[in-house]
Amino acid sequence: MKILSVASEVFPLIKTGGLADVAGALPIALAGHGIHMRTLVPGYPAVMQRLAKTEPVATFEDLLGEPARILAAKHEGLDILVLDAPGFFDRQGGPYTDATGKDFVDNWQRFAALSLAGTEIARGLLPGWQPDIVHAHDWQAAMTAVYMRYTGLRHIPSIVTVHNLAFQGQFGPEIFADLRLPAEAFTVDGLEYYGDVGFLKGGLRTAWSITTVSPTYAHEIMTPEYGMGLEGLINDRAADLVGIVNGIDTAVWDPQTDAHIARPFAAGSLKKRAANRQALIERFNLVEDDGPIFCIVSRLTWQKGIDIIAEVADWIVQHGGKLAVLGSGDQGLEGALLAAASRHRGHVGIVIGYNEPLSHLMQAGADAILIPSRFEPCGLTQLYGLRYGCIPVVARTGGLADTVIDANEAALSARVATGFQFTPINAEGLRQALRRVFRAWHEPKIWARIQNQGMKSDVSWENSAARYADLYSSLLSRV
Ligand code: ADP
Repeated sequence: MKILSVASEVFPLIKTGGLADVAGALPIALAGHGIHMRTLVPGYPAVMQRLAKTEPVATFEDLLGEPARILAAKHEGLDILVLDAPGFFDRQGGPYTDATGKDFVDNWQRFAALSLAGTEIARGLLPGWQPDIVHAHDWQAAMTAVYMRYTGLRHIPSIVTVHNLAFQGQFGPEIFADLRLPAEAFTVDGLEYYGDVGFLKGGLRTAWSITTVSPTYAHEIMTPEYGMGLEGLINDRAADLVGIVNGIDTAVWDPQTDAHIARPFAAGSLKKRAANRQALIERFNLVEDDGPIFCIVSRLTWQKGIDIIAEVADWIVQHGGKLAVLGSGDQGLEGALLAAASRHRGHVGIVIGYNEPLSHLMQAGADAILIPSRFEPCGLTQLYGLRYGCIPVVARTGGLADTVIDANEAALSARVATGFQFTPINAEGLRQALRRVFRAWHEPKIWARIQNQGMKSDVSWENSAARYADLYSSLLSRV
């Protein structure tokens, strides 16, 4: 089976969030199911620099106004197709924003171009390789389903996966003419969204199948509370919607072999974690005492409930806990956390920025990870926490609800508890959960049992890849 994956980021070439982890891990997990997945990704400078050897396999004289090429490359087990379109992608900044953090004004064109290139590959552009199915991720690639639907490729199954419904790619109606689609595409059955052009909306309307990254989030996005205005459409398509929880790359995230941590360890040798805890204490200038260290590795945004952390920080310190935060994002939230750090030197430490190696040390050295997200399609950091004996304390929503088993009395005595969940998702909800966390902390046997249960959870891609493979097969049986 041949699948084209279209994604705006893919680990380890380029990453801003969980999408990259999924796009990078899924092809490798699917190989074991006899599925050959190639991944089309934009040729940002970071991507071009990391690829040692590339081979041109196709050219576009005019891809939405720019010359472009498709380059093929292999990278760490991935079969990559790069959209080399310097006019769109060879620029400073991140994948979506300039160096000052502002969205590029032509993002609609850049990602429509990515989607159109994916469509042409589906049509047979590449010599000797045509996909049976196209799998597009998030709004940046969702237009692939739209182009396929309106340019004569209705017969090839398409999938749009929603990693976060909050990002929809909505643009003014004036861009429609430059998308080079027939007029019928700008209707409610296609791209039209409250008078605007909705990239994700169009993808959700036209894809054969829609997936999202956990069963709970799949239910949530059918409600006004989580549907972000798309709940009507998603309800309409409920029969074609599935939630498949993400796995993690258990080779990259393996406490027994992780090169980014101070000392490797395993479920049977949790005592060795102490060296990582010590390294974390030094890195964040924390005092050494017997209270638990809570870490946060996150975008610092309202979605992630970082304002709740800022609100509860003093309380955590008063109760003997410590906070180590790694992240960047909203300036107001960064400021609130920095203020907490200066109020509580030695008890609250913060590193602003993106730091992959440090994110590993935090999972290996902290005692628990706090994830108070207001919504969370899947979430990956709780999965890393489970694997590293860093107990997840999570809001009961989306994938967090699906992957962490709350340490209530019943779960504790059945020996299945892997973390703590809380609701309502606010400061009081978090404090309630933290009271239980502190109690468990003072009973080392219970704490170790929760750690061990977590480390036994299957967070690999094994099960999820099988579910994607089933979905692909069922779509092909409808062709
Ligand atoms: P989202 O994709 O919504 O940001 P996820 O939990 O799905 O959230 O994925 C976030 C990914 O990004 C995880 O792999 C996490 O470890 C990583 N991450 C987030 N912030 C940082 C940071 N400041 N430094 C290093 N890694 C980070």
